[in-house]
Amino acid sequence: MAKLTKLDDIVSLCKRRGFIFQSSEVYGGLASCYDYGPLGVELKNNVKKAWWKAAVQMRDDIVGLDSSILMHPLIWKASGHADKFADLVAECKKCNTRTRVDHLVDNAEEHTEHVPIETAMADAQDLSKKVCPSCGKIGQFTEPMPFKLMFETQMGANVDDAMTLYLRPETAQGIFVNFKNVLDTTRVKIPFGIAQIGKSFRNEVTTKAFIFRTREFEQAEIEFFCEPGTDEQWYEHWKEVRFKWYTDLGIKKENLRFRDHDPDELAHYAKACVDVEYKFPFGSGDWQELEGIANRTDYDLRQHQRGIRTLNDWFETKGDLTKITLKEEAENFEKGPLSYFDEQNKKRYIPYVIEPSAGIDRSTLAFLVDAYDEEEVKGDTRNLLRFHHALAPIKAAIFPLVKKDGMPEIARKIYDELKGCFNCFYDQKGAVGRRYRRQDEAGTPFCITVDGQTLDDNTVTVRDRDSMEQIRISTDNLKSHLREKLDM
Ligand code: ATP
Repeated sequence: MAKLTKLDDIVSLCKRRGFIFQSSEVYGGLASCYDYGPLGVELKNNVKKAWWKAAVQMRDDIVGLDSSILMHPLIWKASGHADKFADLVAECKKCNTRTRVDHLVDNAEEHTEHVPIETAMADAQDLSKKVCPSCGKIGQFTEPMPFKLMFETQMGANVDDAMTLYLRPETAQGIFVNFKNVLDTTRVKIPFGIAQIGKSFRNEVTTKAFIFRTREFEQAEIEFFCEPGTDEQWYEHWKEVRFKWYTDLGIKKENLRFRDHDPDELAHYAKACVDVEYKFPFGSGDWQELEGIANRTDYDLRQHQRGIRTLNDWFETKGDLTKITLKEEAENFEKGPLSYFDEQNKKRYIPYVIEPSAGIDRSTLAFLVDAYDEEEVKGDTRNLLRFHHALAPIKAAIFPLVKKDGMPEIARKIYDELKGCFNCFYDQKGAVGRRYRRQDEAGTPFCITVDGQTLDDNTVTVRDRDSMEQIRISTDNLKSHLREKLDM
């Protein structure tokens, strides 16, 4: 049997312990969609909380937003997604499997980026040496064709006014179209950012590696608006801030790196782009994108100004996006509805935008992979997740050593007192050693045990997940001790 990889071990732990399940599993499963179980939803919520805290709560220059998934279709025309958000695919003539052209390899190397369609076209000229990843045939491909990544859906009950909408493929556009609302209703001044976490959808051609690339996923994006000319400085700022976010939450530095995009790899809107990459345990190249940080210039706000000018045509063509050509801007586009007036310097301009765009599911996977450890303890293998305290789904587990002598009652009382402060778990089933191991696998930093001595001197043991060391603490000091340790 082939040796299981670290990813196989993690997938199996995630299923066994209720972190992540295949979507619709009892119906045989739905490819590349996943459900987060009781531990997984806590972990993922903690990842989102940690992101929101760093992006919004701790900064004076960023405000939050929660925009809708369904938006006016013209937004996707203006942003370029309706025409350009596609992957170039080729179909294997032998097995009919479609593969992204930029994922086809003629050696052991593997690529995973969404390459802009123009670049992929240029690369696609020669598929004669490329291998079908499904059946292994070489050079047996159809002509490459664009495959649109946005999911379509219909809105409206009446045939006459029903229209085709898209499930958003990124959360960013919801921010751009609310730029003016936020400016008009808050005290923000440039430079400032708008942050949002939410679901995005892409009909990915190739999905792979568990929750790394799925068709429904969550993004955490900041659009940071700044004066043109200061954009390069802010780009550097965000590179540093975002890299540090991962290492502050426990990701090992040696597993994280930057990769600058080559000029011909840049998306149509970007002046510069860098990926924060993590050394994932799959794919031959290992290093895979965790987050993208892009200098989007004034592209999006300018495009939406053009979109707004085109609105009447859209109504006249009954919402047929294929018939819409965006109206050219008036000469003084800097004075358009999405421009910004700098009161202090009395000038008006369209802001530039730096976008750090992270994936919540992808970072959750990175946190899982990085925290996963196996240790030999007294001839036994101990599996554990060394999560940063802020990310651990359960912060403390409370056990009575045995189910008698009043121990369960005391343990319950402790549990009831602590659960108001942080997420706790009560367990009285089975040998205490096994209960410790279960919590190690869940990544619980502390286990508290009520034992015989508790009945005499009111102390309990507190066991540390990482060192397995136990100390005795008076129950009176337990809450403050844990709060200090957990920084909560
Ligand atoms: P990739 O090249 O891996 O397909 P991308 O460059 O198209 O990704 P972006 O459009 O930059 O990705 O999206 C920003 C972030 O959103 C990514 O860094 C990733 O964390 C997350 N993301 C994008 N697509 C997916 C997906 N299909 N599944 C899970 N996360 C995703």
